[in-house]
Amino acid sequence: MGGRGWKLYALLATLGILGYQLIPESPWWKATWQISIGYGAVAAVLFGVRRLRIGRRIPWWCFAFGLFANTSGIAVAIYSSEVLHVDESPTLADPLFLLLYPACAVGFALLTRAREPRSNWAAMVDAGTFTTGLGLLAWVYVIEPATFSAGTPLLGRLVQIAYPIGDLLLLAMLVRLMRSGGTRGPAFWWITGSGIAFFGGDTTWVVLNNLGIDINDVQVANRGVDMIFLVAYSLFGIAALHPSARDLDRTAVQPAPRLSTPMLTSLTVASLIAPALLGFQLYTGTPVDGPAIVLGSTVLFLLVVVRMSQLVREVERQADRVRTLSRQDELTGLPNRRAWNDEIPRALENARRGNIPVSVAMIDLDHFKLFNDSYGHPAGDRLLTDAAQAWHGVLRQGDILARYGGEEFIVLLPDATTDEALRILRRALDVTPLGQSFSAGLARWDGSESSDELIVRADAALYQAKTAGRRRIVTAVDELPEPAPVTV
Ligand code: GH3
Ligand code: MG
Ligand code: MG
Repeated sequence: MGGRGWKLYALLATLGILGYQLIPESPWWKATWQISIGYGAVAAVLFGVRRLRIGRRIPWWCFAFGLFANTSGIAVAIYSSEVLHVDESPTLADPLFLLLYPACAVGFALLTRAREPRSNWAAMVDAGTFTTGLGLLAWVYVIEPATFSAGTPLLGRLVQIAYPIGDLLLLAMLVRLMRSGGTRGPAFWWITGSGIAFFGGDTTWVVLNNLGIDINDVQVANRGVDMIFLVAYSLFGIAALHPSARDLDRTAVQPAPRLSTPMLTSLTVASLIAPALLGFQLYTGTPVDGPAIVLGSTVLFLLVVVRMSQLVREVERQADRVRTLSRQDELTGLPNRRAWNDEIPRALENARRGNIPVSVAMIDLDHFKLFNDSYGHPAGDRLLTDAAQAWHGVLRQGDILARYGGEEFIVLLPDATTDEALRILRRALDVTPLGQSFSAGLARWDGSESSDELIVRADAALYQAKTAGRRRIVTAVDELPEPAPVTV
């Protein structure tokens, strides 16, 4: 069957869902049709998980259990209304319908944890924003009216409240999953699509109810809403049969996705629900749900502030990282020329103020081109890294070794006389790896010259060391004939 099983199932499910519009208008027909599609989806999930040998099966079993319970609710509902003629809510079907929410929420949560074991506060805040915004609407239009409806017995009210709470739970887990890192194959989109369909189906019922529209009279619309749930059932089945279901629980290597424009727009809309609701109630002259709106908008404001501070901190962290990277040599990890150029004026200023000697040495590996040509470029790279490490090991605490470019390095030796500096450099020459050597030019700061002039003298001494036969350290003359001499 390979990767084609899901196509066959998707085709059957689509035909089944479309066929729902064509069956006779009878409760038995409709219930049987829905139950077939629901149990079909359960079978597809269980079969897919086995066949694809999915590693982490518990989330899928949660989905299958939720679908099974929900579908069984339809069976219990038709039996109690058509056989027992019990119509008042709640019935035994309700707990079965309701089991879908915690089961799917746990499934989504387990998948999210598998995909992203580290806590992702940004995703949690986003989930909190959606849940709070829509929670406010759910409170005002469903939960509050149900809580205080005088005629309904307590159990009935609790059951009515449980549905929107289940939806909010599902929504929170869904947003958390969508904002987590990890691969996003077709299976990912199908299970998130299923969650959205369940949420959308329930929301459609609530909105129609609140608008006072009774779609039981309009067959196409009535069945249309049922079809949303049938789509939700089937999407789980398709997802479990698709080969990409195997990757669904794979731990994310890449970070969580960036905030997409649709996600950002949705977040904006969610965080504007409180003022929009207030405006709507004022405009239509309905009683204003003052306390709920105050609480809702306060929580939303705080969530937006938390999210903003998370983003600002993230930007600052990245700026720090960029600054560090821009001052570091990629190969050796030493300070690079840019970092050195920043450091040297400060070092000279310190030396001037403390009246302490400071020297600079230019170091250049001998016959490095030959080494590269003989052993290859990667071996040359390794020599550069190992030499930098070896030299660093013989330097004193305050000495600064930087990569000046190519196979040239520069060392700042503060508070060292020329003799001390020479001793240190000889030790460095001795520890150069693989029997290789360098030539160096050492210049002691004269107390007034600029850092550029100091480096020019060190460079000239290095040139002398090269022409004198390499593997040596030459001390610079106090003054170069060119440019014009400096006065001390
Ligand atoms: P000399 O003793 O006169 O300094 O001779 P040399 O061969 O060391 O000097 P030359 O300037 O002729 O060659 C320097 C070589 O360094 C050429 C270049 O390919 C190599 N090189 C520069 N940067 C890197 C690097 O990052 N990695 C490697 N592997 N080679 C590099
Ligand atoms: Mg060179
Ligand atoms: Mg060289």
